[in-house]
Amino acid sequence: MMPSYQMQVLGTIRSPYKQKFAIPRQPGLIAEAKAELVLEPGYDDDAIVRGIEAFSHLWLVFVFHETANKGWSPLVRPPRLGGNEKKGVFATRATFRPNPIGLSVVKLEGVVRKQGRLIIQLSGVDLLDGTPILDIKPYLPYADALPNAAGGFADAAPETDMTVSFEPAVLQFCQRQKDQPELAVLIEKVLKQDPRPQYKKQKAEQQSYGMTLYHFNIKWTVNGVHNHVTEIRHVKE
Ligand code: SAM
Repeated sequence: MMPSYQMQVLGTIRSPYKQKFAIPRQPGLIAEAKAELVLEPGYDDDAIVRGIEAFSHLWLVFVFHETANKGWSPLVRPPRLGGNEKKGVFATRATFRPNPIGLSVVKLEGVVRKQGRLIIQLSGVDLLDGTPILDIKPYLPYADALPNAAGGFADAAPETDMTVSFEPAVLQFCQRQKDQPELAVLIEKVLKQDPRPQYKKQKAEQQSYGMTLYHFNIKWTVNGVHNHVTEIRHVKE
């Protein structure tokens, strides 16, 4: 048996993404996805982040906590390949891995203390609310940016031809949310990346969907390549 190592959770992510559905497949795709990394007691002395603000981006090492107990298999079907082709798990960024560890580069927006807690403010995340963080490292452009690297089956950001419109009442609701001034843009960008599962995309008829972002339940319909946002409500406590 190989040795195993115990690790501490250093902090927890507070993210607008309340369920896996609708989260982008990689970081940096939706800049309006703002998150907070709340550091745990014991890792929240001001000294632990001294110098961090000199970096624009951070690497986060995290646990895929939502799926961590669901096992893994050596072959997976990357959504980028339409779900039809299998690749080795180490040739993908799939969540179901032998060690359920994720790695995301995110933008550092600031470091603040709120109600005694040390918080690292981030944007462009691809992380579920509640994601446990195992490590934080600065992104080093000279070592980490490799412009000539080969990207395999995912050599460019995914593109779709999806369009988005809003019921006027939904837009007015969004404009009233002073705490989330970018709510409508976030919804639009999430829908433009077409979060539907692959098998649903092949269906021709109009379909209805729902998701939760921040504390809002959002409903929309999809007709061909067009999304129409029909309803938004506060999540019931
Ligand atoms: N950038 C990371 C990486 O490469 O390791 C994550 C890539 S993974 C393909 C991104 C997906 O992970 C998201 O679309 C979301 O569905 C899922 N995800 C994000 N946070 C998660 C969590 N805490 N537990 C389980 N799945 C999560």
